[in-house]
Amino acid sequence: WKHAPATFRALLENSAFHGDKEFVVFEDERLTYAEHFRLAATLAHRLEGTFGVRKGDRVAIAMRNYPEWIVAFSATLAIGAIAVPLNAWWTRQELEYGLADSGATLVIADEERASRLAGTGIPMIVTRAADPSWTHWNDVLGEISPNISLPAADVRPEDPATIFYTSGTTGRSKGALGSHRNLGQAPMSVAYAMMRGVALAGKDPAESAAQRRNTLLTVPLFHVTGCFAVLMTTMFSGGGLVLMYKWDAQAALRLIERERVTVMSGVPTNAWQLLSHPSFGAYDISSLAGISYGGAPAPPKLLERLTELLPDRTPSNGYGMTETTALAIYNSGKNYLARPDSIGVPLAVMDVKICDPAGAELPHGQVGELCLRGPIVIMGYWNRPDATAETIVGGWLHTGDLARVDDEGFVYIVDRAKDMVIRGGENVYCAEVEAALFEHPAIDDAAVIGIPDDELGEQVGAIVKLRAPATQEELQAFLANSLALYKIPVRIWFHETDLPRNPGGKILKTQLRQHVLRG
Ligand code: ATP
Ligand code: MG
Repeated sequence: WKHAPATFRALLENSAFHGDKEFVVFEDERLTYAEHFRLAATLAHRLEGTFGVRKGDRVAIAMRNYPEWIVAFSATLAIGAIAVPLNAWWTRQELEYGLADSGATLVIADEERASRLAGTGIPMIVTRAADPSWTHWNDVLGEISPNISLPAADVRPEDPATIFYTSGTTGRSKGALGSHRNLGQAPMSVAYAMMRGVALAGKDPAESAAQRRNTLLTVPLFHVTGCFAVLMTTMFSGGGLVLMYKWDAQAALRLIERERVTVMSGVPTNAWQLLSHPSFGAYDISSLAGISYGGAPAPPKLLERLTELLPDRTPSNGYGMTETTALAIYNSGKNYLARPDSIGVPLAVMDVKICDPAGAELPHGQVGELCLRGPIVIMGYWNRPDATAETIVGGWLHTGDLARVDDEGFVYIVDRAKDMVIRGGENVYCAEVEAALFEHPAIDDAAVIGIPDDELGEQVGAIVKLRAPATQEELQAFLANSLALYKIPVRIWFHETDLPRNPGGKILKTQLRQHVLRG
């Protein structure tokens, strides 16, 4: 075993010792740890030899969750180049922004993304392509030698490893530059938090790794939840990962049954849709020992349903940002059951404080901006010294989320600072009103927004998707049981289809707001 410093090379070389253990499953394809290592090492040689990629160069990855995504990521990092995962949902224009912003000199793509990018002039390696005119993945790899090792490279923990783009919920996506140290620290601290989570669920903590024997990944690899919190942690603990081309609740049920999945990991919407699916009871999902989600607000109602429909499983909710590499705060097991509205306690390596707008620390219990410090906080934003200086101050990452911490150290997200509605000087937290709406049995999904108001500045509005009939008046009357009058939406719009969400599970509020206010 390599007890090298925290670099991805060490993680990759150690993963090869898992040998014939299954690492990645995608539809009918299966890749063992040894096979993955050989593919990654081969590609690493080709990146250097055929494409001239050097340490510090940016290699973009633009594809769906195919096994090649993981191989491309591994090969790039192994030679000290910087991996730039691009959002597979992006249009040509958005993909071009990612390429130009990162200065990528090579793209590894699937055919759909490659077609979107045709003619940019940047060399591309294309996988799963029917069109013979592309430079094909298989041709690039050529013969795979059974005894291949990684090309020599001098990669240090402080070297940059990845540029992940933020979700762009509050503005244009920013490139978050992560180091090898960030990446090395993430799976260790997440695995430790998960072990505690298993203990808190009343099970033997030694079962923790076994519980991750087979994880179903329901979110894209191009966000940190998929890549770091799940993929890296899996690789670190020698587990298996079941990939999906795209999220689909029924397909997830089928895969859990077929692959005897032990943990499903994704965003809260995945868990919600799985539990609400009409064929939920038709599959044998007894192998499932845990359901973990994060990356977006999880209404307490979700936990209630989860414990009702899947008792004795370990539920967990993780809070993280692109800027924290993986999750940074985690709630699991009995802690989570006792505090369904909390995101839990910080990972062992993280410090938390709550600040006022001037950056001064606030006492316990007060609501202010959540700030985080620790070895998984990114180096900064790529090419954005201004944004970096604004966001990371004296080692503290300013999250833009409003939160409070209770006497026992549990953190509660109150709202995104930018989402909060200010109604006549009174703060209304959208997340609180959304959670109250979810308590109504007719609600399937809800988004609370501010609507411009001449007198009050803003009024509270809501957009909901129903699962059973209900009227605006009924919902308002229901909310009046739990919320003060000023927090109750004055206007509720009914949305026929699922509310639009980004791949990170967040509702596209800007889009929805424009839509309802225009219409
Ligand atoms: P951008 O920064 O580009 O506007 P974004 O902040 O949505 O986009 P991400 O880094 O993907 O991009 O998301 C981080 C945010 O997600 C956090 O700041 C927080 O608002 C939200 N979040 C993550 N996990 C949770 C959670 N468990 N509960 C509530 N909110 C969460
Ligand atoms: Mg953000």
